[in-house]
Amino acid sequence: MDFKPEKKLGFGLMRLPLKDKTNSSEIDIEQLKEMVDLFLARGFTYFDTAWMYSKFQSESAVKEVLTSRHPRESYTLATKLHSGFIETEEDRDKIFHAQLEKTGAGYFDYYLIHGIEGEMLEKYERLHCFEWLLEKKKQGLVKHAGFSFHDTPELLDTILTRHPDMEFVQLQINYLDWESEWIRSRACYEMAVKHGKPVIVMEPAKGGTLARIPEEAERLFKDYDSTKSVPSWAIRFAASLPNVMVVLSGMSSLEQLRDNTDYMGSFIPLSEEEKTMCFKAAEIINRQVAIPCTACSYCTEGCPMHICIPSYFSIYNEDMREHLEEKGWTINFSNYGTLAKQYGKASDCIACGQCESVCPQHLPIIQYLKDVAKHYEH
Ligand code: SF4
Ligand code: SF4
Repeated sequence: MDFKPEKKLGFGLMRLPLKDKTNSSEIDIEQLKEMVDLFLARGFTYFDTAWMYSKFQSESAVKEVLTSRHPRESYTLATKLHSGFIETEEDRDKIFHAQLEKTGAGYFDYYLIHGIEGEMLEKYERLHCFEWLLEKKKQGLVKHAGFSFHDTPELLDTILTRHPDMEFVQLQINYLDWESEWIRSRACYEMAVKHGKPVIVMEPAKGGTLARIPEEAERLFKDYDSTKSVPSWAIRFAASLPNVMVVLSGMSSLEQLRDNTDYMGSFIPLSEEEKTMCFKAAEIINRQVAIPCTACSYCTEGCPMHICIPSYFSIYNEDMREHLEEKGWTINFSNYGTLAKQYGKASDCIACGQCESVCPQHLPIIQYLKDVAKHYEH
């Protein structure tokens, strides 16, 4: 396929460097400029954003750090249309034109129908979004059309059968979810292969879960090769799949970007032995992750109680790895207090279900918040 980037690492613009770690719209633009410049200087070209990333600021940041500072032919840009922001056919164009304006890109190299799962497909089809996207392609405003997906291989089969003009598909693939009964990375990947569609990988490190792994799993990797970072195994696992055209990494610091572009500059696929090691690490991690949240933040926007759901889950996961019976207290009790002053407490949840209806990981958020509240509020 002629539209595959030369290098398999893409810059995901969902978890950007922040000036204030508790506010995802306080983007550290100067650091981001340095990161973008280094990414391009090292020969990488693929950038991925979306309408609601970083509290709707990501696409504007693209203009500030990328499109206004680098020649159009030196990069490719992907963005997306999400069902949560369209009610009529006119809304599709309103969003699209606002995206052109916000990014200043002139056209999009890749455009995706965003995060299809369950009932969202009905809406996308009712509003003829697939046909609309192909029309944008004819007009030269989109170069390549595809969709991102968070559901079963059976539904993926249905979509690819009904919409064979979609050129690629974006899937959640990582060594932890490869055989998971819920995410079914492997089966979804194989379905894309069956339909001859190249795959873009999202969440290769499962929202940072595979960057901060339990000590026992980390030792496994470090004993094998102490020069490689822990997240490098996750990115290389996904990139080693032959039908994968690009792996998106949500880089949020210059340090992460340096590391990623070091080993992906001259990418070497994992050997069979190395893949087996990743699966062994997955077994260890699975035993210890209390809440498999990827910190995508899709759930927070519509929460009437302004609960910072992924932040609470992140500190809770950290604490669940500690031997609390020995320590009794961790710094996260204080962190929880600080967050709870700024946002709603976990116990403020009124069980409206909004968050669960949009969570791509299908997590029982309401129950998990009860666990969080029990841990920190009593
Ligand atoms: S169920 Fe609770 S956490 Fe979820 S959106 Fe409603 S109030 Fe917020
Ligand atoms: S709970 Fe679900 S929607 Fe919210 S951040 Fe975690 S994975 Fe994303």
